[in-house]
Amino acid sequence: MKSPDAIVVGSGPNGLAAAIAIARLHRKVVVYEAEPAIGGGVRSAELTLPGFVHDICSAVHPLAAGSPFFRTLPLDKHGLEWITPPIMLAHPMDDGSAAAVYASFDKTAAQLGEDAAAYRRVIGGIVEAWPQLETSVLAPPHWPAHPLALARFGFYAVQPAERLARRTFKRPDARALFAGIAAHGMLPLDERPTAAFGLVLGAMAHVAGWVMPRGGAQRLTDALASYLRSLGGEIVVNARVASIDDLPPAKAILCDLSPRPLLAIAGHRFPAWYRSRLERYRYGAGVFKVDFALEKPIPWRAEACRRAGTVHVGGTLEEIAAAERDAVNGRVPERPFVVLAQPSLFDYSRAPADRQTAWAYCHVPHASTADMLPRIEQQIERFAPGFRDRILARSVRTPADIERHNANLVGGDIGAGVSDLRQLAARPTLRGYSTPVRGLYICSASTPPGVGVHGMCGYFAATRALAEALRD
Ligand SMILES: Cc1cc2nc3c(=O)[nH]c(=O)nc-3n(C[C@H](O)[C@H](O)[C@H](O)COP(=O)(O)OP(=O)(O)OC[C@H]3O[C@@H](n4cnc5c(N)ncnc54)[C@H](O)[C@@H]3O)c2cc1C
Repeated sequence: MKSPDAIVVGSGPNGLAAAIAIARLHRKVVVYEAEPAIGGGVRSAELTLPGFVHDICSAVHPLAAGSPFFRTLPLDKHGLEWITPPIMLAHPMDDGSAAAVYASFDKTAAQLGEDAAAYRRVIGGIVEAWPQLETSVLAPPHWPAHPLALARFGFYAVQPAERLARRTFKRPDARALFAGIAAHGMLPLDERPTAAFGLVLGAMAHVAGWVMPRGGAQRLTDALASYLRSLGGEIVVNARVASIDDLPPAKAILCDLSPRPLLAIAGHRFPAWYRSRLERYRYGAGVFKVDFALEKPIPWRAEACRRAGTVHVGGTLEEIAAAERDAVNGRVPERPFVVLAQPSLFDYSRAPADRQTAWAYCHVPHASTADMLPRIEQQIERFAPGFRDRILARSVRTPADIERHNANLVGGDIGAGVSDLRQLAARPTLRGYSTPVRGLYICSASTPPGVGVHGMCGYFAATRALAEALRD
C-alpha cells in the first residue's frame, strides 16, 4: 500500500469521523485500533448470555442522531437504522407516577401541568433556536454566527442545574426530570454550567430523539466503518500504538486519545511546557456499569417507564444532587442516580424471544472500587418491585474495568475528562486539536465539543489537519 496521507490512532466515533472527513477529500487514511473490535465507546457484545446483545458503552444516541457531521453521511445506506422509543425518557417518583419526555414537545409540556409554560419558555426556546445554536454548541469556541440565540441559551446554560430547576419549575417531578438530564454532565448540580447539559440533552429529545441504533450501538460504528472503507480508508485492528515513532510516515497523525494515553505514546516529542499542561488535565468521577439479561420486561410501577427507552432512577432533585455531589467528592453514594436503558423493548434483535436486556450505570468516585451492584438493584427495585426476580444474568464493569477496556477513560471517567467551565474552554489545552508537534493532532472527546457520540471532535480536528498538514 502506498504510504497514507493521514493516520488515525483509535477507532472511536471521533477517530472514525476524522478518518471519514479526510477520506472524503480523496486522501489516503489508515486507522489503527488497539482492540480486536472497532468502535471504542460505541460497541456491542453478548456480555451476559448467548443471544443477548448489550451495548458495552454508549446506548442512547441523541447527539449522534443530531450530529451536524453525521447528518451529512449516508449511514442509512451502510446499515444504520435509528429506533425511536414511544417515550424518550421517563423519570419515576415514589408515588408511582413518572414524568415523561415524548418526541412531541407539546405533549411533554402539557403533561407537566402548572410547569407547562416554564417548560415551553426554557426548553422550548432552545428547541426552536437549535438550528442556530448547534453550530456554536457542537463546535470549538468561536465567534457565533447567531450571537442573540447564543446569548439567550448562555443565560440559562451557565447556571447550576439545581438553581435553574428550582427557579423554573414548581413540581417535584419536573425538577427531578431536569436534574436527571443535567446529571449526565457528571458534575455536582450546584456547579456551573450543569444546566447546559440538562438544556442541550433535554432539547435533543425533541430535536433528534433519544434514539438507539437497531441491533445495538455497534451498528453505528459498523456503518461509519463501512462508509470509510467505501471511500478507500483502511482500519487495522489489534494494532495498539505504543509510540508514534513506530508509525509509518504520514503528513498528519490524529490521535483519538485523551491526554494520559496521548502522553504515553507521544509525550517524548512534546516540549516540557505542553507536557505539563496535558499532565494537569483533570479526569473526574467514574462509572460503575451493569448489564442485565432479563426473563421479562422490568415491572415498573409507573406505566410511562414501561414504554420509555431511557429511565432515570434516582427520585427527587435533592436526592440526585446529593448522589452526584457524593460521587464527585469521593464519597460512595448510598442511593446512586442510575441511568437505565431498555433497548430490547423496541428492538427484538437484542434478545431471544420474550426475553429482555437492560443497560444501567451510576456515577461513583474516580477509580472507586466500591461494589455498587446491590445499590443499583435496590434503586431499580424501589420503582419496580419484583425486578430482581426477573434477572437471568448480570455483567458488571467497575471503573477499573472501564479504563482497562479503553485507556482514554482514566479512573472510569466516561467523559474522558471533567466538563467544567474551565476544561470546556480549554480542552485539553487552549490549543485544542493542535499540538506543538507539526502534523500531530488530538481528535478525541478530550477536545471540543467534548463527551458524547457525535463525531464533531473528529470532524473539527480533521478540518484543522486538512487546512494545515494535509494542504496540497
Ligand atoms: C459506559 C459508557 C456509557 C456511555 N453512554 C453514552 C451514551 O449513552 N450516549 C453517548 O452519546 N455517549 C455515551 N458515552 C460516551 C461516549 O462513548 C464517548 O464520549 C465517545 O465514545 C468518545 O469517542 P472518542 O472517539 O473520542 O473515543 P473512544 O470512543 O474512547 O475511542 C478511543 C479508541 O482509541 C483506542 N485506543 C486507545 N489507545 C490506543 C492506542 N495506543 N493505539 C490504538 N488505539 C488506541 C481505544 O481502544 C478506542 O477504540 C458512554 C461512555 C461509556 C464508557
